[in-house]
Amino acid sequence: MQDWRQILADSFRNGERLLSYLDIPVDKALKAGHPALTFPLLVPRPFADQMVRSDLNDPLLRQVLPIASETYASDLPGYSIDPLGERQTNIRPGIIHKYQGRVLMLAATGCAVNCRYCFRRHFDYADNRLSREERKSALDYIRADASISEVILSGGDPLMLQDTALAELIEAIDEISHVRRIRIHTRLPVVIPQRLTPELQTALSHTRTDNAMVLHVNHPNELTALHAERLRELRSSGVTLLNQSVLLKGVNDDIVILAELSEKLFTMGVLPYYLHLPDKVEGTQHYFVDDKDATALYLGIREQLPGYLVPQLVREVPGDPYKRPHPVLA
Ligand code: SF4
Repeated sequence: MQDWRQILADSFRNGERLLSYLDIPVDKALKAGHPALTFPLLVPRPFADQMVRSDLNDPLLRQVLPIASETYASDLPGYSIDPLGERQTNIRPGIIHKYQGRVLMLAATGCAVNCRYCFRRHFDYADNRLSREERKSALDYIRADASISEVILSGGDPLMLQDTALAELIEAIDEISHVRRIRIHTRLPVVIPQRLTPELQTALSHTRTDNAMVLHVNHPNELTALHAERLRELRSSGVTLLNQSVLLKGVNDDIVILAELSEKLFTMGVLPYYLHLPDKVEGTQHYFVDDKDATALYLGIREQLPGYLVPQLVREVPGDPYKRPHPVLA
């Protein structure tokens, strides 16, 4: 099996190369220097291999291909570079503390894929790149607050850390007696399933804490037989597997697709957790799904699926003490 770091190093970083690989005319790619490319293209090959050839509207390609309209001013209200007000809750390098009992640690500042709709696409990672000392100080912060029962490892993507560094971090958190759960939020195994290594599994299966991994899968085409195999192994070692998706126009705003996603996740031992309404991040207006359509989609999947396969439809509102359920009236 190829090493995930080699696969990552071999990722597409150039739109023309990606489109040529997919048999799509390369003039559909933005030219080097286009302002949208300040958030550059980054796509691992296993993810590209799941795209339908010759289809510019492929739902996986739509999530990662930079387009010119990302630079247009939004004509909808509420769009900004920090729609979740994370600057206020990023209280020290590497720590975002916004909810009671839970703290988010920015364990790594990079990702394996650059999702165009990302709510942190304008986030200042430079101020959150942790030195060894700063990581220790972030852990001291968690240690000093006995109300923290859950540590969420996020990023960027926390699985960008090498297994040894991640194991060290998990062990250090596990030693903090008031922490009961470690939750890892990651998209990396979705775009490179080889990232679910035996070493990672070992690190997560030897802790006092209960552990959960929240994957980020938006479309059933993102999941393969290799995902099924690796996820089943991870689950067999006691890790709870959940999924969160973002509702994205032209990607998964369809009852059949959302229902199929939930069904497929369940066959791999993953429970659908959240379906997020997209955050109003500047440059992402083309993914917007309005409340009326979101409600109709949600009612549609509720009719198709048993309750335990219906994710909660939520939006994040700055200052709220939890994610706000989207009101579904019928
Ligand atoms: S993997 Fe997550 S954090 Fe990284 S670009 Fe995609 S949505 Fe953003």
